[in-house]
Amino acid sequence: MARAPGWKQPRAEGPVVWWLRNDLRLEDNPVARLAASEAHVDGRACAAIFIFDPRFIDKSNYGRVTDPGFEKSIPTRKPLDFGNRKCCALRARFMLQCVRAVVQSLLQRGVKLRVCHALPEEVFGALPNGSLVVCQQEPVSVECTDVEDNVEAVLQRKGSHLWCEWGAMSLYHRDDMPFKLTYDDMPKSFTELGAALGWEDIWTTANREAGAATLRPPVAAPAAFTTSPMQQDQGVLQDLPGLLSEELLADDRKALQRLGYTDDEIQQAFNWPAPAGGEPEARAWLEAWLPRQTVTCPGNGDNPQAPVFWDLPVGSGPGEGHDALQWANLAKPDGWTRISHYLAVGCISAREVCARAAETPNFAGVVHRLMWRELHRLNAIRFGRRLFWLQGPGWVERPWSWDTAVIEAWKLGKTGVPYIDACMRELRTSGWLAYKGRKTTGYFLIFGLGVDWRVGAYHFEDVLLDYDCAMNYGNWVTVACIEKPNRANWGSEAMLADIVEAYRTDIEYKLSAEMANDQNGDYIRQWVPELRGVSAEFVHRPWEMAQEEMVKVGCVVGKDYPAPMLSLLKLSAKEEDWNVADADGDGQPAVSRRMARSGEHRVHPEDSSGRSYSRSEFLAFAASIGETEEYGENLWKESLLVPDIQKKFVEMEERLKAQEKELSALRGEQPDQQEAPPPQDS
Ligand SMILES: Cc1cc2nc3c(=O)[nH]c(=O)nc-3n(C[C@H](O)[C@H](O)[C@H](O)COP(=O)(O)OP(=O)(O)OC[C@H]3O[C@@H](n4cnc5c(N)ncnc54)[C@H](O)[C@@H]3O)c2cc1C
Repeated sequence: MARAPGWKQPRAEGPVVWWLRNDLRLEDNPVARLAASEAHVDGRACAAIFIFDPRFIDKSNYGRVTDPGFEKSIPTRKPLDFGNRKCCALRARFMLQCVRAVVQSLLQRGVKLRVCHALPEEVFGALPNGSLVVCQQEPVSVECTDVEDNVEAVLQRKGSHLWCEWGAMSLYHRDDMPFKLTYDDMPKSFTELGAALGWEDIWTTANREAGAATLRPPVAAPAAFTTSPMQQDQGVLQDLPGLLSEELLADDRKALQRLGYTDDEIQQAFNWPAPAGGEPEARAWLEAWLPRQTVTCPGNGDNPQAPVFWDLPVGSGPGEGHDALQWANLAKPDGWTRISHYLAVGCISAREVCARAAETPNFAGVVHRLMWRELHRLNAIRFGRRLFWLQGPGWVERPWSWDTAVIEAWKLGKTGVPYIDACMRELRTSGWLAYKGRKTTGYFLIFGLGVDWRVGAYHFEDVLLDYDCAMNYGNWVTVACIEKPNRANWGSEAMLADIVEAYRTDIEYKLSAEMANDQNGDYIRQWVPELRGVSAEFVHRPWEMAQEEMVKVGCVVGKDYPAPMLSLLKLSAKEEDWNVADADGDGQPAVSRRMARSGEHRVHPEDSSGRSYSRSEFLAFAASIGETEEYGENLWKESLLVPDIQKKFVEMEERLKAQEKELSALRGEQPDQQEAPPPQDS
């Protein structure tokens, strides 16, 4: 088992302390077993501590709360002044339940779990000399690794030690992966990761090749933690900083108050029934889901209505079309596990979910999604601090908006676009949003409203019940198209309005797909009461109602319900209005994949003026120079979009500049002093 760097045999007088973090369970917890075995070996007292770290709860500006002065940042960091809580009261309440469940399980094994509200650095600084603290490391979050470093430093000063163990947060153990966890060595895509780990085709099946990487089976909970009587640790751990009493911990309201939540926030957390927290609840949830999904697995004809897939075309059976497993499952009532909040705090492990689903018909679907989780975890390790930069790991430059009124409207679900508003209100109220809702609202914020993606990611961090650093930021940089270079790299000089215009039809397509999936607008009516009286025809696009109709149904747009922040959206539930045949199947919405009808402008190659044509103008011009309709259509498909042409010009200019530089170097001229500035972010 790996020892922490600098680890030495600790002096035996201090206790072994299991520091519980996002591994709030006893089954399949290698860290719990490690703590128990270390205590057994030396016959030492064994204690357990969980800490509510105020830095991960309180309101703060975006950035690393463990480095408030940004001393670890690059020097060109731009000042940031947007912020919110790191954890809403609803999630804190859920966590309290999860913690209470471990308190009970540990008591049965003779260990008392101390729960503190303080900095881990302070809590561990108060341990007796010679303590050994054992924890699950969390390498996906720079904030968590900063805390690990700080704790290690504090402990070392007292002759104590921190032992960070890989644990079972990931599906695979670090030592079983056939690549090093270094930037260059790690797989760069989902396909590459699947292949490296020996999955035959991670997109469509759960078959594994001979010699595939080991997927370790879950391990049993330790039966007992210490041979010593439980009282042994009483004296040494009684006066921990920020220790919460048992009485306080038993009362959600009092505990939330102690954690610093206001009365309003606490009330909001009680307005919605948070899912019951804890390891037994997580396991019960999984056990109830497993038989349900057997009757709704893809391809068994049980799906009454063929769903419309939001960003990728897909066939009706497994393996047909791109990412069939994802969409075939997501469109079904039981297609998703809704287990992410339990995974995020570690009430259940990914490998237990995987092992339990192995004999079920939809095993491939479960593996597929757990492997997305794995990829995001590995990416977070690979990207490190860059995951949180404005330019993302891809160093992509684009202009961004920080319009506070727009941001507030998005957060509150008051954008005037019904599907977006329904999603944002569901998220805010319940802490939950389905994958496609997260993607569409994120996409709308970034490309429809032009807002800095980090504002959205930070809001999700606050309100999501299943917030997980790697999953949240990993998905956000993917939605923002900044996880790789050159995806949507418009350059910082581009005009925001052009970007919004270029992505308009993609947004229309996504919203239209939701309209087709929910033609009566039931989901919208559930979350947006202002629209309950609006007919099915207009519930997805109330701005198209005639004035008399608005008055009749009591929903005047601009008065009873906001006017849309992205105006002139054309939505349609009819498939014939869409043109997704050219979907590029890269897992991403692309500028070239859109409804053929509106917004888009292209340049006809025979028109030397370079004029930008709408589709009908383009076809009219083609006819005017004697091209057949079919030829014109084909040419339209092949021609570059205007924004792409602008991008090509920028690229050409850059190439020319580089050539000029090379030429002047050859001529022996002084190099240009004005090197490209480093990215301006943290
Ligand atoms: C903008 C955005 C932010 C997100 N933030 C989070 C987050 O903070 N925490 C989180 O757990 N998920 C996040 N996701 C991923 C995904 O939406 C949720 O994991 C999923 O909706 C949870 O529902 P489920 O448990 O029913 O998942 P299922 O569809 O049943 O999948 C099973 C498990 O696989 C994993 N998984 C599935 N899809 C993904 C994915 N795209 N990326 C990573 N893991 C995945 C999750 O752990 C999930 O619980 C985010 C997605 C987007 C687009």
